[in-house]
Amino acid sequence: MSHAPILKTTRSTCCYCGTGCGVVIDSCDGVVTGVRGDENHPANFGKLCTKGTTLALTMQPRAMTGRARVPEIRADRAAPRQEANWDSTLITIADKFARTIAEHGADAVGFYVSGQLLTEDYYVFNKLAKGLIGTNNIDTNSRLCMSSAVTGYQQTLGADAPPCSYEDIEHATCFFITGSNTAFAHPILFRRIEAAKEKNPDLKIIVIDPRRTETAAFADLFLPILPGTDVALFHAMLHVMLWEEWVDRDYIAANTEDFDALRTLVRETSPAIAAEICGVPADDIITAARWFATSTATLSLYCQGLNQSTSGTAKNASLINLHLATGQIGKPGAGPFSLTGQPNAMGGREVGGMATTLAAHRDITNPQHREEVRAFWNADRISDVRGKTAVEMFNAAKNGEIKLLWIVCTNPAQSMPDLAEVEAAFNNAEFVIVQDAYRNTETIAFADVVLPATSWGEKEGTVTNSERRISRVRAAVPALGEARHDWQIARDVGRLLEQHLRPGKPSMFAFESPEEVWNEHRALTAGRDLDITGLSYDFIEANGPQQWPFAKGAVVGKKRLYTDGKFQTTSGRAKFFAAKYQPPADKVDAHYPLRLTTGRMRDQWHGMSRTGTVASLFGTTPSPRLGMNPHDLARRGFDDGEIISVKSRRGSIYVQVEACQGLRSGQVYIPMHWGKRFLGGAQSSGVNTLTTSAFDDYSRQPELKHAAVKVVAANLAWHLVAFCTCAADENHLLDKLQYLQPDVAYMSNVLIGRDRPGVLIHVAHHGAPSLAWLNQLDAILSLDDVNTLRYDDARRGSERRILVRGDVLVAVRLSGDAESTLSANWLRDWLLSGQPVAEIRRMLLSPVATAPIGFLPSSRVVCQCHDVSEAAIRAQLLAIAGNASERLAALKAKLKCGTECGSCLPELRTLIANTAATNDVVATEVAVAVA
Ligand code: SF4
Repeated sequence: MSHAPILKTTRSTCCYCGTGCGVVIDSCDGVVTGVRGDENHPANFGKLCTKGTTLALTMQPRAMTGRARVPEIRADRAAPRQEANWDSTLITIADKFARTIAEHGADAVGFYVSGQLLTEDYYVFNKLAKGLIGTNNIDTNSRLCMSSAVTGYQQTLGADAPPCSYEDIEHATCFFITGSNTAFAHPILFRRIEAAKEKNPDLKIIVIDPRRTETAAFADLFLPILPGTDVALFHAMLHVMLWEEWVDRDYIAANTEDFDALRTLVRETSPAIAAEICGVPADDIITAARWFATSTATLSLYCQGLNQSTSGTAKNASLINLHLATGQIGKPGAGPFSLTGQPNAMGGREVGGMATTLAAHRDITNPQHREEVRAFWNADRISDVRGKTAVEMFNAAKNGEIKLLWIVCTNPAQSMPDLAEVEAAFNNAEFVIVQDAYRNTETIAFADVVLPATSWGEKEGTVTNSERRISRVRAAVPALGEARHDWQIARDVGRLLEQHLRPGKPSMFAFESPEEVWNEHRALTAGRDLDITGLSYDFIEANGPQQWPFAKGAVVGKKRLYTDGKFQTTSGRAKFFAAKYQPPADKVDAHYPLRLTTGRMRDQWHGMSRTGTVASLFGTTPSPRLGMNPHDLARRGFDDGEIISVKSRRGSIYVQVEACQGLRSGQVYIPMHWGKRFLGGAQSSGVNTLTTSAFDDYSRQPELKHAAVKVVAANLAWHLVAFCTCAADENHLLDKLQYLQPDVAYMSNVLIGRDRPGVLIHVAHHGAPSLAWLNQLDAILSLDDVNTLRYDDARRGSERRILVRGDVLVAVRLSGDAESTLSANWLRDWLLSGQPVAEIRRMLLSPVATAPIGFLPSSRVVCQCHDVSEAAIRAQLLAIAGNASERLAALKAKLKCGTECGSCLPELRTLIANTAATNDVVATEVAVAVA
């Protein structure tokens, strides 16, 4: 008997960046059917970027192949994992913990958790580690993300409390955007900046970045500094401000301390000296200082470019110095505003879920703070031994100090630096538990136990975004399979472990709902800078997301901190931080002459475990590429798209290289997202094979943004390009391809297509791999079908396999020497177009580089919402004259690009600047001027 479909609408938040956009999830009979922006959420007022708008696609069956559904465990390292039941698995885990702690002490275990956990999840894990087990070895991937922002705030303002609100974007008259490609990493905030600029064209935007990013293209002043030289730049700006009397001496005298030491330090850093160090004109430094200091309200927005550095704390604090010296803080539109990279990096910081912090912004080195938390938890003790931070934790596992690792909701085998060391740590650890919503991440390969966790859309709790705003996260659909909530898993192990560690005592884990966890966390914040004792689930339900602090009796949270000039230091005064400029740790020299920086792509998020399941999200950046200055590329004799070898002092990868106008000579760039799953090979674990684990002394955040590398010709003689749309489930196909990676030097596997999704495989090796390897690949792609067309040229080792079903191309393999794959690009586009092959049958088996006459190969997609390619935009622009904004308006009207989520607007502006209308002199002049 059929039933009426059960339709449901659920308010929640996006699970990607720290902007914390509100979403409305539509579901039908327990399946997510759509995701819209929440018009009532103050972070986004209904807007979402490409990642947010495609969230529903990540919940479709073909995107969930890789989800973990049941617990798995293996008897020993040589055995494969087997499915298991929850009860026996949790008992095994509790027993392992008890035995390890009894034999080696509490510090022989380590937890590595995630800024994607909800606050409630974070809280219970923190209590389990610090309260029950008695170790501070619990750290989080926020260590790789925001820990320098934390120490920067603590060292200057006295607490880990971002002072600003998103609303300040509408009040600012000068934006100082540094170390952040906001246009890509925080697109919805960038929409607000664009709107502010449109409303007030006189406001100034200064962008500091080693790359000419999409954000930089929007700037009034762009300073393309050399990687890692920010501290010298900020010191020089203060030098100028002092010289020109642009500092606010009254503010400094009334509200700060330790200015003299800083003034003495920056005296040495003139604009001329900084120009040498930073590689930017001295005049531009002076202009930046003038705009920053003399604007009525300067708002600094910053992210990983400052944080992921061995000088991360110094960079953050030196920037905050500028705000304190000019009084650009504590007033509308002004202040230092760190943008968080993860949806709940802030919530994790609030519960003290890191190795160096305690609950509610307490200090783990402070005996009184430890006693407060111990008494509140009724714990036996809180350890006074500082916990091991991310890099230290994996080092300790590698050298045998940590025996048992529990990884929660994160993928360190993709995201940690110097991955060879991380893999060695996993291999050396005695027992590795991986708790995740996905079972196909790079880290899962090392798991002795896999615990299936619920994911976005299935969870209940809270998150805090960059502006201290706490939002509810709500479940729209039931848990998948046997997956359980993260806080529940921690609670249940806690209850079992209590029987070993404190038998007979009342449980510390008496929670039955996330709300009970939240209420306990809330009580611990009483009297702290982030006091939220006045907030409840009910209040948020009735009144929407709220900013902290929100103490008992409050009716509204604080938009802005430090408006009275009082700071969270012992003296109540903000402290200037005088740190000398130090170059990045990994030295550039004759052996490793290039500076590698990493960054974010527009449509992918972090390790791609979720966004990497949606084929259309590969449209903008279809495959892993190393960007290089065009002159450097030509000087080395590389072709655009050639596979080259990139080597650092830690390892090497093969990757395709491409010319990138936005990079200066001597620099190379690669997005941070490409892990082994998408960019693999015998020696490669993805991008972080190359990066360094050197970290900042204060924040212990590693320098993921800078590595010295060299590039050399790959000399891989054998090439293969293959693609298919034949899979009912392209993600399952990607999983199978992982097993082929170790036998070839280079293997990149990505998703392609949109309406007819598929996979694209690119392989290069020293010679042809074994016949068995090729047969396996063919079987995965259905090219073992008896109807497959075959062509072999034994002399050149060239092979072509083509499968046509009906009259439609469904799978192709081209392999042999480099010329054997010449027709790959247009054949792939033909396959994706779904056009009949009748008219090109004769071309199928010959290596013809050019597409059939009349067939327009596709190009990268710029507008995701309306599926508009770069080629279509360029072609249209040839016929559109006028100034930049007129051309943008005409382009939107013609192609609809940029009219939906707006994520592509920065790229549209760049294309407009670089594509003149034919026979239109005015348009050409506009384009040159903007470029
Ligand atoms: Fe999600 Fe995009 Fe909003 Fe970030 S900006 S929270 S990724 S919708």
